[in-house]
Amino acid sequence: MSEINVQLEGGRSAQVAAGATVAEVLKAADRDAAKQALAAKVNGREVDLTFRLDESAANGETLRVEPVLPGTLEGLDVIRHSTAHLLAAALLDLFPGTKLGVGPALLEDPRYGFFYDVIAPRQLTDEDLPAVEKRMKELAKRNLSYRREEISKEEALRVFQEREEPLKCELIADKGGERVSVYYIDGSPFIDFCLGPHVPNTNKLKAFKLLSLSGAYWMGDAERPQMQRVYGTAFATQEELDAWVKQREEAERRDHRRLGKELDLFSIQEQYGQGLIFWHPKGGAIRREMEDYLRAELDRRGYGLVFTPHIARRELWHTSGHEENYADSMFAPTEIEGQEFRLKPMNCPFHIGIYKSAQRSYRDLPIRLAELGTCYRAELSGTLHGLLRVRGFTQDDAHIFCTPEQIRTEVIDCVDFAYDVLRTFGFEKFKVELSVKGSDTSKGYLGSEEQWVNAETALADALGERGIPFERIEGEAAFYGPKIDVKVEDAIGRHWQLTTVQFDFNLPERFELEYIGEDNRAHRPLMVHRALFGSVERFFGVLIEHYAGAFPLWLAPVQVAVLPITDRANEYVEQVARSLREAGLRVETNTRGDKIGAKIRNAQLQKIPFMLVCGDREMEEGQVAVRERSRGDIGAMSLEEFREMALRLVRTRALVNE
Ligand SMILES: [Zn+2]
Ligand SMILES: [Zn+2]
Repeated sequence: MSEINVQLEGGRSAQVAAGATVAEVLKAADRDAAKQALAAKVNGREVDLTFRLDESAANGETLRVEPVLPGTLEGLDVIRHSTAHLLAAALLDLFPGTKLGVGPALLEDPRYGFFYDVIAPRQLTDEDLPAVEKRMKELAKRNLSYRREEISKEEALRVFQEREEPLKCELIADKGGERVSVYYIDGSPFIDFCLGPHVPNTNKLKAFKLLSLSGAYWMGDAERPQMQRVYGTAFATQEELDAWVKQREEAERRDHRRLGKELDLFSIQEQYGQGLIFWHPKGGAIRREMEDYLRAELDRRGYGLVFTPHIARRELWHTSGHEENYADSMFAPTEIEGQEFRLKPMNCPFHIGIYKSAQRSYRDLPIRLAELGTCYRAELSGTLHGLLRVRGFTQDDAHIFCTPEQIRTEVIDCVDFAYDVLRTFGFEKFKVELSVKGSDTSKGYLGSEEQWVNAETALADALGERGIPFERIEGEAAFYGPKIDVKVEDAIGRHWQLTTVQFDFNLPERFELEYIGEDNRAHRPLMVHRALFGSVERFFGVLIEHYAGAFPLWLAPVQVAVLPITDRANEYVEQVARSLREAGLRVETNTRGDKIGAKIRNAQLQKIPFMLVCGDREMEEGQVAVRERSRGDIGAMSLEEFREMALRLVRTRALVNE
C-alpha cells in the first residue's frame, strides 16, 4: 500500500498508509488530543474521525490534519449538531411514526443551542420533554456509533421512502447531488440526510438539556401543515451547561415582557396589532423621565427640537432611495385624491425637509435637528420580540448638517453626549465598534476616497480624543458611510447595541443639499445621523432587564409608598402623600385593610424604592419610618428630612438610594 504525506499540528509531518482514518493519524501524533477529538479537519474541511485518507484525495500532496476539539466554536457546533440527531433518535424511539424535518445547531442564538422540527403522531407538550431528555441520556450512555454512508440519490430516496420520511425525501430530491451522505446512529431507529461531521459515538455527548417547544413550518411555508420545533442546548461539559442554565434563569427573571406585565409598565395587544406598544401610566412615567432628561440635554447642547409628520408622499421615498432599497420594510402605500402616501420608516428625509426650507449659509452651520420621531416598519411577526423588536417605535433621532471643518468637533460632541446619556442610565461598561469601508469594492460604496478617509478619520479621532478603546471593523460600513456603534454591557454581562453615530454621503447628494460658503459658492454639507437610546422602546426594554425592574429613584414609576399600620393613620398617610406629591415625587398610598406586613411585601414586589411606614408614634411626632427597597429599615426621620433626601436623589439622578 502506498503512503500519504500528512502535516500535523505544530507543523510536524508524517507518512501514513493510504486508507488510514483520521482518528488513527491523530492518535499516532498526540494520544490525548486524539482522545478528546470530536471530529477533524483535513485541509480545512471538517470530516468525521472515521474519514479515511486516500491517495486520490491527496493527489501526491501533503494533507493537513487537525483535530476539532471541545472548547472551540467548531467543537461546539459538532456537539450541538450531533445532539440534535440524538434528540431525533429519542423522539423516533418514543413516538414511532414521527416525521423528521431539519435539526440544525445554533451557535449565535443566546436562548437555544439546537432544534429539531418534527411532525409527531400526537402534539408534544412541555410535559413530554423530561421523558425525551431521559431517553436521550439512555441512548448517549449506550455509546452508539454515528455511521456515515455514501449512497446514490436513488438509493437514498428509496431508504427514506421505506422509513416513511416524506420531508427528508423532499430535501434529498431538492438538495442531494448524484451521491448523498446519510448518517445512522447504529442501534437506534435514526437515519438522516446530512453532510456531517458528527461525534464518533453518543457517549461524547455528556451535557445537554431540552428547553422548550414551539410551532414551525416546513421551509417557513405557512401553507404547509404546522410542525413542532423542539429546542435544546448542549455544551462540552456539565459545568458550562450549568453556568449557562443559571444565566438563562437570571435572564428569564429579568425578562422585560414578564416584568412589563408584573409591574404594569406596558402591554402589546394582539387585537390592536403585533409589535405595537401600549405604554401604561407606570411605563409612561419612566418614558417621561427619559424624554425630559433627553430634551433638557438637547437644549443644553444646541440642538433644535423638531416635530415632523408620520407619513409623506411616495415621491419623497423615491428621492430618499427608500423605495428602491427599503420598500420591504415599509408599510404599503395608502392613497388620497390620487396621491400615494407611505408611513415613515425613518425620520431623516423630514429633517432634510426642514434643512431645505431655507437657503443655508456657512454661518448657519452646524444645524442640529433632533426629534423623538415615531417610525413604522413592516417587520415580520416571527421577528418581533417584546420592546426589543417592534413595528412602531420612537427614535431619539438627530441629524447634524455641518461643514468639513466642523465635523471633528461635532463627532466628539456626539460621543460625549452618548457616554453622558448611557452613564446617567447606569451603564458603566461599553464596547465600541468603528465600522469602516475596507478594501472590498463590490459593496458599491458611495462618496469619494477622500470623503471616506476624512469621515473615518473624524470618527476615529473623536474616539481617540476621548481615550475610548474601539474595535475597527473593516468592510462593515454601510454603503453610504462609516459609523460608530456603542454597545453597553448590562448587569448580567449581556451586550446591547444602543447608540449609533452614522455618516451619510448619500442623502445630501440625493436631496442636493447646499450651503453657501465663505467663498459665496454652493457646497454640499456633511450629514450625520445619530441616535443615542436607539429607540425609546428598545432602550426601555434594556433598562427593565438591566435593573430587573428595580429602577433608580429618579426613574421609578412609583417612588414612594406611604403605608399606614392601622386605619388610624390613614389621614396622616394621605397628608404625607400630598406633601410629597406637591414636592414633585410620585407617591402611592395603600389604605386597604391588609396587615402592614402584606402592604410592605406588596410594595416590595412592585420594587418601589421607598416605603414610609406610619403608625401612632410617627403621627404624634410628625415622622415617617423609612424602609428602602434593598436595605430594609433605615430608621425614622422627619417628613422634611425624608423629602429633602428623596429630592436630592432625584435631582442628582442617583443610581443607588444612599
Ligand atoms: Zn447531521
Ligand atoms: Zn437618519
